[in-house]
Amino acid sequence: MSTVPQITLNNGVTIPQLGYGTFQITPETTKDAVLTALEVGYRHIDTAEMYGNEAGVGEALRASGLAREEVFITSKLNNSFHRRDDALRATQDSLSALGVEAMDLFLIHWPLPTIDVDYLETWKAMIEIYEAGQSRSIGVSNFQIPHLQRLIDETSVVPAVNQIEVHPYLTNDAVRTFGSEQGIATEAWSPIAQGGVLEDPVLVDIAERVGRTTAQVTLRWHIQRGDIVFPKSVTRSRIEENFSLFDFELSDQDVAAISGLNKDERTGPNPDTFDYVPE
Ligand code: NDP
Repeated sequence: MSTVPQITLNNGVTIPQLGYGTFQITPETTKDAVLTALEVGYRHIDTAEMYGNEAGVGEALRASGLAREEVFITSKLNNSFHRRDDALRATQDSLSALGVEAMDLFLIHWPLPTIDVDYLETWKAMIEIYEAGQSRSIGVSNFQIPHLQRLIDETSVVPAVNQIEVHPYLTNDAVRTFGSEQGIATEAWSPIAQGGVLEDPVLVDIAERVGRTTAQVTLRWHIQRGDIVFPKSVTRSRIEENFSLFDFELSDQDVAAISGLNKDERTGPNPDTFDYVPE
């Protein structure tokens, strides 16, 4: 079985560089999907209150027979809960749904810079949650450079990670570089652009040459760039395929060729303008 590297976050907590994503997995199928991932060897699961499937993640964890500390669990604070009191309550709800005493990583899902609640209030609530021991580390998701700078300037607490959209068509290098300068690890969401990059001729050519699939080549590119990834699949063969990344390597030229595919093309919303707050 392949050995997944561990990344050390800025507070000393370690996270497996490869995990399993759960966006768009239905609540009814989450337990089985996550259990399959745990059987294959994944030890890092990325969920969110917004996905409605935290309970299924918790069920899979208990059904797996693995000890709690063997699996790294990330969840995210939903957009409706940015006020301090709502954030504290939502954290309890996530812990109950997951059935754990503490998460390993808890993120503000979106900055929502245009709504009437300041994400700085939300970040201060996250610091309280961290200090109360409800998550072993805290971070953010979809934060742009000015948003990150503001958190650091105003609280001196540097997020452990920033989870942002990154794939060959959106290399997002300015935010990644700022993060690494500040000690913020980058997590790359939609690492294969939800399948959208897999037929790219450059990736097809490299995949044929190294005898791997284009999904594996793309995920390996993320790994060699140092980002944390958690591809999502409900298909067992793909769950296995996406986990098999540590017995081959891309040349520096191939990494550069894939990075050269960037066209600043998002599959998801723009964090500067996204303002969706569920009822
Ligand atoms: P991914 O880039 O992981 O792509 C998932 C899609 O690709 C699914 O349709 C899956 O199909 C398919 N797929 C997976 N593996 C393969 C393969 N080897 N070959 C061919 N097709 C494949 O997209 P996600 O958007 O799910 O991103 C990954 C994770 O990132 C999410 O699950 C979530 O945890 C996180 N995320 C976070 C966001 C945020 O705002 N913080 C936003 C979006 C995602 P199938 O399942 O049918 O096999």
